[in-house]
Amino acid sequence: MKIIGYGIRQDERQFVEQWSSQNGIGVKMTAELLTAETVDQASGYDGIVAFQQLAYSDELLEKMDQLGIHNLSLRNVGVDNINLEKATSLGIKVTNVPVYSPEAIAEFTVTQLMQLLRRSKEYARKFSNHDFRWAPQISKELNQQTVGVIGTGHIGRSAIKIFQGFGAKVIAYDAFHNKEIESQGLYVDSLSDIYKQATVITLHIPLFPETEHMLDREAFNQMNDGVFIINAARGPLIDESALIEALDSGKVGGAALDVMEDETKVFNQDLGKQEINYPAFNNLFERDNVLISPHTAFYTDVAVKNMVNISLNNNKQLFETGTADNLVEK
Ligand code: NAD
Repeated sequence: MKIIGYGIRQDERQFVEQWSSQNGIGVKMTAELLTAETVDQASGYDGIVAFQQLAYSDELLEKMDQLGIHNLSLRNVGVDNINLEKATSLGIKVTNVPVYSPEAIAEFTVTQLMQLLRRSKEYARKFSNHDFRWAPQISKELNQQTVGVIGTGHIGRSAIKIFQGFGAKVIAYDAFHNKEIESQGLYVDSLSDIYKQATVITLHIPLFPETEHMLDREAFNQMNDGVFIINAARGPLIDESALIEALDSGKVGGAALDVMEDETKVFNQDLGKQEINYPAFNNLFERDNVLISPHTAFYTDVAVKNMVNISLNNNKQLFETGTADNLVEK
């Protein structure tokens, strides 16, 4: 068996090499992304392992089929950039890595909230101008906050534990209740309850048509003045123009965004001094009380190692058995 890995970053190489020698399976690595133009490099390989924000086009899937490659293992969880119906119709099996380190995203969520509460960006800007005064930029304490966690899956539950460790009051909302969270009595009945009671709201749900723009004008209007918003889930969960209005009015006191509506315009590229053609990004980026990070919540050594190992195991399993534990089906 031979595997080719696309979009392999420098930090992934050591984990790929370790897996390859442990399993006695050759893995060719390329930094190029998987596209209709680059897929020819996979000729003669039994499976492809890939990770990218860029869409896996229908043309690419057709070329994979023509090359006789029907095993595609993604190194991440999201499959929103691949037409699964098309893949299935061509007999291409797709796997993902549903869980690689919920703690990575949960810890990042709390880190960003702490920075908002302690006004880190504002202090850093003042410090860069050698202004070392502290008053009147007074901070807030996490133990005094009511944190509304929307989505109590792997990441939401991990974040809840950390928030509780800091002494915060946690309330939670999820379309499907988790027994552990229910036994603690954390669930409220509706999203409105979260909006009305929370002083911090953090999103940990997937993007579906029904969750797109979950935080819109109507939602922000129901919230407490000065509420802090954290989004390390998916950009389109928040209507960015409504967020900008809510920041202007003081309804929202600060926001930490690891994901954005049009993030592929900006994230994961070195734009140097180029003008950024994304008005909402430019508006939010300038604000002292908005933290933007380029979809890096997941990016830890543990998470990357798991993404590499689990995806390669999935690809091996597809080759050996025709199916895999992490098969994604439409
Ligand atoms: P998960 O599947 O374990 O949990 C998702 C939870 O959302 C589930 O409990 C589900 O019941 C709930 N849910 C689904 N639809 C809902 C709705 N309409 N209303 C309320 N609750 C709903 O997923 P996870 O591993 O905890 O990941 C959560 C999200 O985090 C992912 O979907 C992904 O978008 C995002 N994520 C971001 C990064 C990053 O680097 N920023 C990394 C991984 C995942």
